[in-house]
Amino acid sequence: MSVEIKADLLDGRLSLGGERRPAAGGAMSPDLSPSTGEPFAEVAESGEQDVDAAVAAASAAHETGVWRSLPVLERQRILAGIATRLRERTIELARLVARESGMPLSAARFIEIPMAADAFDYFAAAGTLVHGRTLPFSLQGATTRYMTWTQKQPVGVAALITPWNFPLLMPAWKVAACLAAGATAILKPAPETPLVALALADAARDAGLPEGTLSVLPGGDAVGAALVRHPKVAKIALTGSTETGRVVAAEAARSLKRVSLELGGKSPNIVFADANLDDAVSGALFGIFFNSGQVCQAGSRILVQRPLYDRFVEAVVERAGDLIVGDAEDQMTDLGPLVSQAQYGRVAGYVGQAVDSGLRPVLGGAQQREAGGYFFQPTVFRDVAAESVIAQEEIFGPVAAIIPFDRDEEALEIANGTMYGLAAAVWTQDVRRALRLSQQLDAGTIWLNAYQVLTPTAPFGGFKQSGYGRDLGVEGVEAFLETKTVIADLNDQPMQYF
Ligand code: NAD
Repeated sequence: MSVEIKADLLDGRLSLGGERRPAAGGAMSPDLSPSTGEPFAEVAESGEQDVDAAVAAASAAHETGVWRSLPVLERQRILAGIATRLRERTIELARLVARESGMPLSAARFIEIPMAADAFDYFAAAGTLVHGRTLPFSLQGATTRYMTWTQKQPVGVAALITPWNFPLLMPAWKVAACLAAGATAILKPAPETPLVALALADAARDAGLPEGTLSVLPGGDAVGAALVRHPKVAKIALTGSTETGRVVAAEAARSLKRVSLELGGKSPNIVFADANLDDAVSGALFGIFFNSGQVCQAGSRILVQRPLYDRFVEAVVERAGDLIVGDAEDQMTDLGPLVSQAQYGRVAGYVGQAVDSGLRPVLGGAQQREAGGYFFQPTVFRDVAAESVIAQEEIFGPVAAIIPFDRDEEALEIANGTMYGLAAAVWTQDVRRALRLSQQLDAGTIWLNAYQVLTPTAPFGGFKQSGYGRDLGVEGVEAFLETKTVIADLNDQPMQYF
């Protein structure tokens, strides 16, 4: 695949309501490739003035109704048109994702870009299906007098704040749902991956999205914070760390903005002794090493029942040892680099801390990083205590903590024993056990003999401190809608209370 990235995808100017322009303050930042540690493009650094301009454009688009008042089938065609434009440029966009985020090219090409396009196709349809209901009116003596219904109204201007790990998919989930609801959007992508998000803005413009409806403001946390503070922003949808979620929720609470939070995880992947060993090992490898473990629902805690424990650890170590760590743009690469120096330091810090506490990795570990990219070998710790730091805190890197257990109840207690509740998986051939656990596990997504697979038709989000609200599914559209109740008096004689 020798397709080069065309110049328009390297245009780092911000997108204000669909129009590309430099940041008002003229500031630019280098965009680094995690595979080399070298800059490959320059991107606008948005400031307060840009935030004000984007909010003004989104508010005006909301007020005039250029988007929300379009016939719903016309909105559907435009959203589906965005999906088509993303698909048409799959290979180029995949290369950009690989260069900018370090996601291996194969994952970007076959997972990231197609799933982002699918999100637009799904929400194009879902937006036409979410509507109000007619309700029975119930009041002593007046039951037939009143007609009651609900209607759904777009929330207004929404700020969408996203992380770097799925640099097109996370923006796509939020932008598509927001637009499907008829709301207007300002996307603040992660500072590590702005170009992919800007490419989405161009695809939307080319598909006919009306001016002002979507802006993309590259920049750091301060740009996100300015959006959260802005009085004309009605809704915040954040995907990010639990720490950022707390800060954003606290600030948004001052003006009671609507908030959806998709946050961190420490998801348990539970393997029972009766599981098919090969399948469970494949699921565990995909669960923790896909995108170098930089996945919110990564199966970073692998709970294995004792009779299978040693064979399982041995098989994981053997197969993980064969994975190819390398340049994200190399088609043979299984694990690309971590996204940044900071992320490398964070992951190495956790591994160092585990070693200091007496744990020894049975694979990988924190090697001294060589010059160039932020590569981290797949790392496996065995016999990890459920309460230890590496079994409780989100590392967001290719680090597996394998924890032994004996009984079902013990597995459940360990699995539910963190502050997170994003996802969980169970590997067993016992159908009743699998179904029982699917009821008992406290997590937003449960996989039975599977890991990591998602569909845009089903809601995705967390229990506990993994956040609140849901992306995807009909719930994803609802997150950008207000519900209004209308009650109409059908009687010619007005009701006279006084
Ligand atoms: P992060 O929390 O550092 O940043 C996420 C986004 O929030 C970025 O765009 C950042 O600039 C912005 N931000 C940071 N501080 C802010 C503030 N005070 N106000 C407004 N915006 C602010 O997260 P990250 O390092 O980019 O991504 C990794 C995290 O994202 C992990 O914890 C991961 O679990 C989580 N994540 C969750 C999901 C999910 O669906 N639950 C999906 C992907 C990633």
